[in-house]
Amino acid sequence: MKSTPSPVLRERIMRLRYAYIDKLPRILDEVKRACEQLAASPQEADTLDTLHRSFHNLKGTAASLGLPEISAEGAVGTDLLGRLKGLDAAERRSAVTAAVGELAACIERLDNLKDSAAIAAAPVTAPWSEAAVAAAAEPAVQRRVVFFCDKDLDGSALGAQLSCFGYTFSSFINAEAMKAEVLAAPPDAVVMSTAGAKLFADLRSTVAVPILFVSERTDFPTRLEAIKAGGEAYFVKPVTAHEVVDALDAVTVRREPEPFRVLIIDDEPEMGDYHALILEGAGMMVRRLDDATRVLEELNEFQPDLLLMDMYMPSCSGRELSRVIRQIPKFVSLPIIFLSSETDRLVQVSAMRVGADGFLTKPIPPEDLVTAVAVRAERTRVLRALMMRDSLTGLLNHTTLAQFLDTALANALRQDSRLCFVMLDLDEFKKVNDTYGHPAGDQVLVALARLLKQRLRTSDVIGRYGGEEFAAILWNLSIDEAVRVIDHIRRDFSALTFKADETVFSCSFSGGVAAFPEHPTAEAIVQAADRALYAAKEKGRGRIAPAAAAGQAEARP
Ligand code: GH3
Ligand code: MG
Ligand code: MG
Repeated sequence: MKSTPSPVLRERIMRLRYAYIDKLPRILDEVKRACEQLAASPQEADTLDTLHRSFHNLKGTAASLGLPEISAEGAVGTDLLGRLKGLDAAERRSAVTAAVGELAACIERLDNLKDSAAIAAAPVTAPWSEAAVAAAAEPAVQRRVVFFCDKDLDGSALGAQLSCFGYTFSSFINAEAMKAEVLAAPPDAVVMSTAGAKLFADLRSTVAVPILFVSERTDFPTRLEAIKAGGEAYFVKPVTAHEVVDALDAVTVRREPEPFRVLIIDDEPEMGDYHALILEGAGMMVRRLDDATRVLEELNEFQPDLLLMDMYMPSCSGRELSRVIRQIPKFVSLPIIFLSSETDRLVQVSAMRVGADGFLTKPIPPEDLVTAVAVRAERTRVLRALMMRDSLTGLLNHTTLAQFLDTALANALRQDSRLCFVMLDLDEFKKVNDTYGHPAGDQVLVALARLLKQRLRTSDVIGRYGGEEFAAILWNLSIDEAVRVIDHIRRDFSALTFKADETVFSCSFSGGVAAFPEHPTAEAIVQAADRALYAAKEKGRGRIAPAAAAGQAEARP
């Protein structure tokens, strides 16, 4: 997906290259000095290591910044020094004079290259199509029509659920009839039984409609058949509304995804910047770290989805760094990818043994870097989501929400920003269960979860706090603003209707809101929101109450 980059991007890549060319004389001076030291004391392992790392860096950085001639000389030096490192003391003493001579010639060629104007002027290509990135951020599709074809789904709670979330659905009894309709007027998605999968196998070449399958079967042939028919998702019955709605949202609404967060650790700032540029170009959020010793603070603060690191760094090696990280339980599943100009397969394999998830060689074609990072970051997201979320509503579970609250309060304190904590509780929910049945109650819980997700900002944190209690952390809002936002959602929620058998019913909730910094600790803000919620219930339910500031009486809703 190479393309001509925009002027801004081209300029940024060029700038990195020029900065590196400016730095070259200094690098070469250091290399020269180290060579002299090596000639004087060939047994000094540190000098040999430093020199080896410098040539290794030249090879990798120059290649990535589009300076192949310089990189080639870097490779000559790296090989030479690598061989020298492999010798025993006596052999090294006799080989060192010749090696230093060859290195001097290599440095001289580098000296000449650094002054050549041509090297700086090589064309810059962008690794990604900027048009494709822009397209991914297009606004959501409004009209969403879903066709159903499954006897169990027909007239089920799922249908009612879907209409709450802006889907219009048509139900078909027979797959043949649905196929004809799909061809005539393609819907946004199809949800069907695997029994009709064969019929749809040839449809993909004609119309691009996402198909979601539901089935009683869990065997491989049926799953394979569903894939062959173009199935985007496969649900084993009984299906829950929220999993189907989630899947439908994923295939029909093109929301701007939460960007992947990548931490890059590289002692060479140009290298780190360059890789950051590529990943940012693909819409990722990148943080750079030159000093590997600060990695733990950075991991805690930035919470990356993936770590991209260099193999050879002055303070510690990539292997050592991964071992440190892997010894900390919460980072055991964090993907680590090495990015190095090391081409020796054995070294690569030994790096993987310490728990790295991948090894990429510099210079890496940018599109390969983006793919390697995206694939692994996505997998972490999925795994993490499974652990952190409540299975009925897909919202954060209680434990995770509590952790988020601690982090959010610490951030708010540091950044001197505002934050509100909201607690919601469905009104007389026990009655809903008693009157309409537990599945009907579940339908209400799912609907409220979805509404909160749709209406709050992506940066807000929403969780299922307990059975029929929800909580949210809202950023940068005053308590009055937060009450207004939640009250608006409350009004819209009361207007939703649910169906149980032939009865239509609706539901309401009450809420309490407390603010930081008035309530500065997690315990205080949760308690204050809970007290306000209680006050709202006392006042007759179906309302949102602000908490009184600490030490004052509860405000009246
Ligand atoms: P109030 O307005 O005072 O909050 O009354 P309430 O009936 O909502 O409160 P109460 O705490 O007495 O009842 C909560 C009910 O929520 C009881 C429980 O059956 C129901 N509930 C909790 N978790 C779930 C769930 O996962 N699914 C369903 N359907 N119901 C649930
Ligand atoms: Mg309750
Ligand atoms: Mg309740």
